[in-house]
Amino acid sequence: RDDLRGLSPYGAPQIDVPVRLNTNENPYGPSASLVTGLAEAVRHGAAGLNRYPDRDALALREDLAAYLGHGLTAERVWAANGSNEVIQQILQAFGGPGRCAMGFEPSYSMHSIIAGGASTEWIPALREEDFGIDPDKAVAVIAEHRPDVVFLTSPNNPTGTALDPAVIARIVEAAPGMVVVDEAYFEFARTGTPSALTLLPDNPRLIVTRTMSKAFAMAGTRLGYLAAHPAVIEALLLVRLPYHLSTLTQAAARVALTHRDELLGTVDMLRQERDATVEWLRDLGLKVADSDANFVLFGVFADRHAVWAELLDRGVLIREVGPPGWLRVSIGTAEEMAAFRAALEGIL
Ligand code: PLP
Repeated sequence: RDDLRGLSPYGAPQIDVPVRLNTNENPYGPSASLVTGLAEAVRHGAAGLNRYPDRDALALREDLAAYLGHGLTAERVWAANGSNEVIQQILQAFGGPGRCAMGFEPSYSMHSIIAGGASTEWIPALREEDFGIDPDKAVAVIAEHRPDVVFLTSPNNPTGTALDPAVIARIVEAAPGMVVVDEAYFEFARTGTPSALTLLPDNPRLIVTRTMSKAFAMAGTRLGYLAAHPAVIEALLLVRLPYHLSTLTQAAARVALTHRDELLGTVDMLRQERDATVEWLRDLGLKVADSDANFVLFGVFADRHAVWAELLDRGVLIREVGPPGWLRVSIGTAEEMAAFRAALEGIL
């Protein structure tokens, strides 16, 4: 167990245990009708696999633009293998030697790890004690370092907290370079939470990223995407590898979009389970961050590794991430959350 820690900078172990609540996946698999649709798409796509895929993924980008709404069209949407690759392409295009990127921590660790891989200096700015961002301090730290790329994550991983759109707007206004708002968990936010897409029209310095790995339950498909000004998409075309998105990935993502209602139906169940989990943890007397995502950050433990390891001994895998003492649990099915509660109660 201990040998599995620290092997890679991205430290989520993939262990086959009964209850896996450590990578913020959607625990509900595809419905029978989606499986049928995917099988048909694979069968159809397989017949043409001697040919390269559409390297501009135009049909998929049209479908994604329609899903996002906000008057977006395919020329303002881009897709890649998971939002991790989307982020990598952004840093290849707008970062690089002599440039720097900034994020407000604690946040999604891959932003800084991918920046490192793209030879881009990483400047960690800090979130407040409630995991929000103080706009005045953010403007000051941006003025001091003049980052080429600023990452904002809302709802944020691992804290679950969503940013006030007014804070995002202030930062977009203050930043001298690109601002990326990572909205991987947007669909889980409380109803009425506005997307940064509302700030997008004709802003050539704002990028909003999304993924089908979370709410859409398609983590294995690897499909992330972004919305931005067409000039940004043109910059990404310079760094992407030709034919980066396979025929089967494009087909699977398009089928999943046609099943959006049933896929997003699971989001409501997960939101309810999340809110119940927050309440249950607070009733135990633990500290719990507000969550607009499909996970909850809680603590604070003198030895969080011991709690994590004891949960694993009971067959429940969660994540040791966040500030010292905190742990993050992804929201699973009602049965999985009952197993988590029983295991944690047993330990505490
Ligand atoms: N952004 C955030 C904030 C995440 O938490 C994750 C995954 O956990 C990702 C991006 C990457 O998602 P994917 O590459 O599966 O689209």
